[in-house]
Amino acid sequence: MRALLFSSQHYDQESFTQAAVGGGVALHFQSARLTADTAPLAQDYEVVCAFINDELDAAVLQCLARGGTRLVALRSAGYNHVDLAAAQRLGIDVVRVPAYSPQAVAEHAVALILALNRRLHRAYNRTREGDFTLHGLTGFDLHGKTVGVVGTGQIGAAFARIMAGFGCQLLAYDPCPDPQLEALGARYMSLPALLSQARIISLHCPLTPGTRHLINAQSLVHLQPGAMLINTGRGALVDTPALLDALKSGQLGYLGLDVYEEEAKVFFEDRSDLPLQDDVLARLLTFPNVIVTAHQAFLTHEALQAIAQTTLENIACWAAGRAQNLVTG
Ligand code: NAD
Repeated sequence: MRALLFSSQHYDQESFTQAAVGGGVALHFQSARLTADTAPLAQDYEVVCAFINDELDAAVLQCLARGGTRLVALRSAGYNHVDLAAAQRLGIDVVRVPAYSPQAVAEHAVALILALNRRLHRAYNRTREGDFTLHGLTGFDLHGKTVGVVGTGQIGAAFARIMAGFGCQLLAYDPCPDPQLEALGARYMSLPALLSQARIISLHCPLTPGTRHLINAQSLVHLQPGAMLINTGRGALVDTPALLDALKSGQLGYLGLDVYEEEAKVFFEDRSDLPLQDDVLARLLTFPNVIVTAHQAFLTHEALQAIAQTTLENIACWAAGRAQNLVTG
């Protein structure tokens, strides 16, 4: 069976090639993103393997179906970018990797917190320039601070456990509370209550119509002045222009983003020689108290290995007529 991997980077090629040894899937790697323009490249591929910024709307799925694709194997947990109704109508199954390394993402969220708090990004540049002063680098103890976790699934729970280890007080917002986190001391409450009490807020819920722009101009008003917001979930969980206003006013004291609503046009490519066309992102990058990483929270050796293994198992099980990890909407 032939599978075409869109948006594949060199690290995908390494992990998938290793995991595919001895299996029955012939892998072909395509660095281009899946879009209406590139979908014809999948002609005669029964399996298309897609990542988070690939486009899987009705038009693209229609083109894939015409070319003979019967399975879309997502290399991600999130599937907000797939028109599942169209896939079903066209007879294309969709499978995903429900969990590969919750720790990888949770630990990246913590890395953003530590870097922002202790100004590591500024200190790094300063010492490399021979400037060994400390002004402007004062942080705060994490111990005893209140941390709000929005979405306490696999990643949110892993994040909460790490923050509990720092001695933080945990607040949580999730329609399905986790008794194990409650046992750890997490207090579940409404989102406005969490936003008004937490010094640090980290987003770990999926992007759905109900969570789009969950953090917006109205909800930002609830924040404690100078609060820290971390988003490693999905870019559209926050209304980015509203964040710019909150940063300018000081309502938001620190912002760590691994995801960005318009990231598909920018992330995963070297654009260092080009003028940045996205004015919102350009403005974000001017703030000393903002760190943006380019959707790298998942990027650990362990996570890549797990993504490759589960994806290949998903394909093999689907081919054997006992599909696993199906996304049904
Ligand atoms: P999960 O399904 O285990 O947990 C999601 C949690 O969010 C669940 O507990 C669910 O009840 C909760 N939730 C649903 N709607 C909510 C709402 N309106 N408000 C608050 N909570 C809500 O998923 P997970 O594996 O923990 O992943 C969470 C998200 O992280 C994914 O959907 C994905 O978007 C993102 N993610 C990002 C990266 C990255 O590299 N940055 C990698 C993997 C996943």
